[in-house]
Amino acid sequence: MSTKAPTIGVVSLGCPKALVDSERIITRLRSEGYQLSGSYEGADLVVVNTCGFLDSAKAESLDAIGEAIAENGKVIVTGCLGKEESLIRDTHPKVLEVTGPHQYETVVGAVHTHLPQVHDPKIDLVPEGGFRLTPRHYAYLKISEGCNNRCTFCIIPSIRGDLVSRPANAVLKEAESLVKAGVKELLVISQDTSAYGVDVKYAESKWKDRTVRAKFYDLCKELGELGVWVRLHYVYPYPHVDEVVGLMAEGKIVPYLDIPFQHASPTVLKAMRRPANQDKVLDRIKTWRSICPDLTIRSSFIVGFPGETEDDFETLLEFIEEAEIDRAGCFKYENVEGAPSRDLPDHVDQDDVNERFDRFMEVQTTLAHARAQHTIGKTVEAICDGWDDDAEAYAFRTKADAPEIDGVTYVDSDEEIAPGTITQLEILGGEGHELVGWVI
Ligand code: SF4
Repeated sequence: MSTKAPTIGVVSLGCPKALVDSERIITRLRSEGYQLSGSYEGADLVVVNTCGFLDSAKAESLDAIGEAIAENGKVIVTGCLGKEESLIRDTHPKVLEVTGPHQYETVVGAVHTHLPQVHDPKIDLVPEGGFRLTPRHYAYLKISEGCNNRCTFCIIPSIRGDLVSRPANAVLKEAESLVKAGVKELLVISQDTSAYGVDVKYAESKWKDRTVRAKFYDLCKELGELGVWVRLHYVYPYPHVDEVVGLMAEGKIVPYLDIPFQHASPTVLKAMRRPANQDKVLDRIKTWRSICPDLTIRSSFIVGFPGETEDDFETLLEFIEEAEIDRAGCFKYENVEGAPSRDLPDHVDQDDVNERFDRFMEVQTTLAHARAQHTIGKTVEAICDGWDDDAEAYAFRTKADAPEIDGVTYVDSDEEIAPGTITQLEILGGEGHELVGWVI
């Protein structure tokens, strides 16, 4: 097999911001084993980063694209002129792909499509799955940055900006590399997972022999084909989540939804400016459970939000019981610097906040206990997280437990069990978030 590194040329036009984009593209491709050529003839493919600020800059960019096509033949266009895709394609129909400004990941994805990288440990010291800080058998998969919502207690949009979704093929490529590197569980994360792709109008990208839309369901469907556990975090109860629950019922995606409801009282949710229509949440949860009876729902809630009355708080307690929220985390409201909720009227007295927190935890503990009892005697699939020195047993997680935030099942075994081993356990006993089982 040839291990000659694929080589790219980059023509960078325009302002310093465009130059930074070119640098990011080059850095990323170099880290993946691509070589850089300073000449058209030495490159297998040329990326032209254009400028479209003035008419003269547009003309210069179009000329540069024409020159690259004439000299090399394989050209991907990016940068500001990329916004005028039809102008580029009308002038230069042979262009392979056109992407807009600051879409460096899309450009990198286009390079992968037209000039696939060669993974060769002799020329590329970056492991196939990239550098990760999690154990070898599970990995976080970030599908977007930022958020279009404006929850009043949150400062994330002011720090990270609006939603920017990664192209579907970039996410899938990363997921596939992680799986090849030994990952057995992918944890899909973002600020608002079910809004994935809204910002790019669900743009299609090429993945293997097909195109995939940057859409929550489409991405989940593809991830579900990778043969590993896929767990979804930070999902909001939008109607289209129903389809994804169908994938869970089919066994493609782990039947687990992490949905940060934050509250249940309509008045508090309004003051929080939470996304998605909360009126029908209970009905929606019932529908999900009818589609996928094994579904586990994790959620987090805030108690003591400004304006929260005793009635509001009781609505919240009723909700977690009626919705049978399996895993409920609770936070006491805090006046975060820069958050709009600081300026809301009727802040709750701290003693009341503390008291509500304790009552919440009591209900939550009862629910967790009931759930644990329900699991005892059952046979479930579980993944080994390794040996736990304190418990002197192997720590496993069932599909109902995400790493670091949910429960654990301890297993005693004379035989060594490697982290990442997925096997059937019979649950023998336990309480709350700690169960005991044995390998069958
Ligand atoms: S809480 Fe979540 S959904 Fe709301 S603004 Fe912050 S990041 Fe976005």
